[in-house]
Amino acid sequence: LDIEEFRKAGYKAIDRICDYYYSLHAKPVVSQVQPGYLREALPENAPEHGEDFDNVQDDYQKLIVPGLTHWQHPSFFAYFPTACTFEGILGDLYASSTSNPGFNWACSPACTELEAVVMDWTAKLLGLNPEFYNTSGRGGGVMMTSASDSALTAIVAARSRFIRLNPTIPLNNLVIYVTSQTHSLGLKAGLVLGLQVRVLDVKEEDAFALRGESLRTVIEEDREKGKRPFILVVTVGSTSSGAIDRIDEAGHVLKEYPDIWLHVDAAWAGMTLVCPEFRERAQLEAINEYATSFCTNFHKWGLVNFDASTLWVRDRTLLTDALDITPEFLRTKHGDEGTVIDYRNWHLGLGRRFRSLKVWFVLRSYGAEGFRGYIRKCISLNNQFASYIRDSPDFAFVTQPSFALTVFRLEPKMPEPLSLQSLNSLNRIFYSRLSARHDVLLTQTQLNGVFCIRLAVGAARTDDTHIKHAYDVMVEEALVAINTWRE
Ligand code: PLP
Repeated sequence: LDIEEFRKAGYKAIDRICDYYYSLHAKPVVSQVQPGYLREALPENAPEHGEDFDNVQDDYQKLIVPGLTHWQHPSFFAYFPTACTFEGILGDLYASSTSNPGFNWACSPACTELEAVVMDWTAKLLGLNPEFYNTSGRGGGVMMTSASDSALTAIVAARSRFIRLNPTIPLNNLVIYVTSQTHSLGLKAGLVLGLQVRVLDVKEEDAFALRGESLRTVIEEDREKGKRPFILVVTVGSTSSGAIDRIDEAGHVLKEYPDIWLHVDAAWAGMTLVCPEFRERAQLEAINEYATSFCTNFHKWGLVNFDASTLWVRDRTLLTDALDITPEFLRTKHGDEGTVIDYRNWHLGLGRRFRSLKVWFVLRSYGAEGFRGYIRKCISLNNQFASYIRDSPDFAFVTQPSFALTVFRLEPKMPEPLSLQSLNSLNRIFYSRLSARHDVLLTQTQLNGVFCIRLAVGAARTDDTHIKHAYDVMVEEALVAINTWRE
């Protein structure tokens, strides 16, 4: 494409994206294609000669769109809250239009400087301790691909710090602590780094939150065996149930073990910190007092399209001491002088996307007030759904609703109470019926052996009618599931 052809194709692309959003609510949420559908439709090799770009765009519509599950659909309630905005899309468009990998300040000063400013804006919006601000000169924030990536980076840095502090302890004595509710990012990091991971038990009566006393017991038990925990990953808003670890208690215990890093994974629920009324529940005070690092994802519940994970550390040298490798070809005058941030030393890769642009666009267009309004709207929609479940004779919460997430199951009144096994098999039938629907999408989980269903609210266009529709679908499918199960 030359510049004028790009202009034309670009207008057409934007027109089609607008049409997509106009018609989104009428599409099935879930793609209905079968595995391998695209391989059958595409030629075996890339074309030898360039094709007319109109045809390429047409094939996007014809072949790709049908294979998409529509995460921005107002009836998408699966996984975790997720929303993107036109501001975010435009931010990405501008960012890719200059396509630069911004790893050093000197690569494109605006990329680093905007990121440093936006990370401070967001730290303030979330109410984080000023120690985490880039302007503190000591702590700071960086944008990453994902919460998994942020946790892996924190774990690498924690391992380096631990080895510096305890040079004689053999590496295979090191242990990563997570809980049974931590996202699989903890186990994945252990796998990648070849380190042991200990999964701490959490109890249903504690709403699946890690408690200080059980942490202390495990640390003492492990140290007695010569094992050395060097990082604890706690969660604000676990994936399965929205559990919130008692960071206050865990942090208090870790005061006695200063070589254990405390990483807070608040991948989706961290966004609630923008609203003062949710800060106590999300444990802001404890995060501010105890966290060594804190992560939340703007690409989940922050109105920004994938990817935009934000990671803050209280001391940036913990990252740079672990990750700064500067061969001659990466040296710059300002880098050598230490007067700028070179973000390549804050994460595992070298090149990086210009992610701060889209977050900046979103924050400026929404304003803090608009942003808070969106979070409040999602929570209130989840409360609406939760109230249907509460009032229903056939459904029951498995855990209490948490921010934008409700975890429930079908639990119909029967002459004799049903065993766990029977309830699980009923709910599996129910869920398989639900997931065969194309007009709503929810996902399932297991909590202490209980098979349950999760509804997460977050799409920017969801309103009360979609919540009501989702509930009506549940009622309809529940009836059929109960009859099928009885047979
Ligand atoms: N942490 C929590 C609590 C999550 O719910 C999720 C996603 O479901 C993740 C981490 C993983 O996020 P990412 O895809 O950004 O690695």
